[in-house]
Amino acid sequence: MIRVNPNYSKIQANYLFAEIASRVKAHLGANPGADIIRLGIGDVTRALPRACVDALEKASREMGADSTFRGYGPDYGYDFLREAIAREDFASRGCDIAPDEIFVSDGAKCDTGNFQEIFDTAVRVAVPDPVYPVYVDSNVMAGRTGGATDGRYDGLVYLEGSAANGFVPDPPSEPADVAYLCFPNNPTGSVATREQLGRWVDWARESGAIILFDAAYEAFIRDDKIPHSIYEIPGARQVAVEFRSFSKTAGFTGTRCGYCVVPRDCRAFDSTGAEVPLQPLWKRRQSTKFNGVAYPVQRAAEAALSPEGKAQCKALIDGYLANARLVAETLEAKGYKCFGASNSPYVWFDCHADSWEFFDRALKLAGVVVTPGVGFGRAGAGHVRISAFNSRENVERALSRLAGIL
Ligand code: PLP
Repeated sequence: MIRVNPNYSKIQANYLFAEIASRVKAHLGANPGADIIRLGIGDVTRALPRACVDALEKASREMGADSTFRGYGPDYGYDFLREAIAREDFASRGCDIAPDEIFVSDGAKCDTGNFQEIFDTAVRVAVPDPVYPVYVDSNVMAGRTGGATDGRYDGLVYLEGSAANGFVPDPPSEPADVAYLCFPNNPTGSVATREQLGRWVDWARESGAIILFDAAYEAFIRDDKIPHSIYEIPGARQVAVEFRSFSKTAGFTGTRCGYCVVPRDCRAFDSTGAEVPLQPLWKRRQSTKFNGVAYPVQRAAEAALSPEGKAQCKALIDGYLANARLVAETLEAKGYKCFGASNSPYVWFDCHADSWEFFDRALKLAGVVVTPGVGFGRAGAGHVRISAFNSRENVERALSRLAGIL
């Protein structure tokens, strides 16, 4: 008899977005035709940069002629893209990352979800709270946890974010073998300083652990003092893997391209305590289970790293950042404490209420959809996330409608 993976039954239903959708549906049922403004989503809304569209078109035409057609691409990405990434995303910031340490993928969700496969099922996993749910759910599916009680899985180490630590938790005092970090953070928008990341790298080096560093939002960093990459921290190469994405940088959420960096000297250990390099394991995993990203998409990603592409991406992100600042200024003027916004598309704030109660008021009285913070973890209770991924006009309309309930 075929049995299902029992770990799947431990997973808490994707309560957050399903619940948001059902409350919005009920509101629209009771108020047919109501004009809803969605500031809840983490998806971009502006069109692809021109440089990327031109590259997509050109590469698609190449695929249409026998002389330039390409079939399966290299497992880890075309050299033209790996070289552009090494030069533009790392060498330009003084990080020593070689093209063959970069593994092109169809996005950071897959990479952050899949990477845990190369670790022993018995490793102890530390996750932030609040958290991007993929880090948690992929480890639950892999059998690294018990069941959930009060929204927390037995066996995981939770790194609590709070106003006191600015939603940048310190390394755990209890043992952990792998820690997921995400800066700029989804959902809180917080960024980590060089000193804070330095403490994490020291922790990983001293405790034989690995940091899985999700930098999907690095392009939103405007403060020169904030590191964009974990590899700006000395000693990180041996203890950190980094995930990046073109989704929020270049509007690729529907186009799909990202990458992960696994330095040659990045290490884990076998059951005897001997050091094992991680890169060959990741290569083995990818060449077995992944067949590369479409050639036109890799050309479009390369174009995002060209001088024109970079200027166009910056303009896109500047627009979202201006929206985020407007949201934060409006909330702060009303006495709400905000996090994020300056180096992130997300504004996270203490809503002075239960997060779902605030959500309901925003929906019913203002027709605005926000995201209740508690949906990202217990430590998100009493907070709300507002996303700046929308047009300026919609953000302004939403804020004027919300004024009545703030
Ligand atoms: N990591 C974080 C923190 C995210 O918020 C998201 C998407 O919202 C992703 C990864 C997924 O990115 P991608 O579109 O590259 O799969």
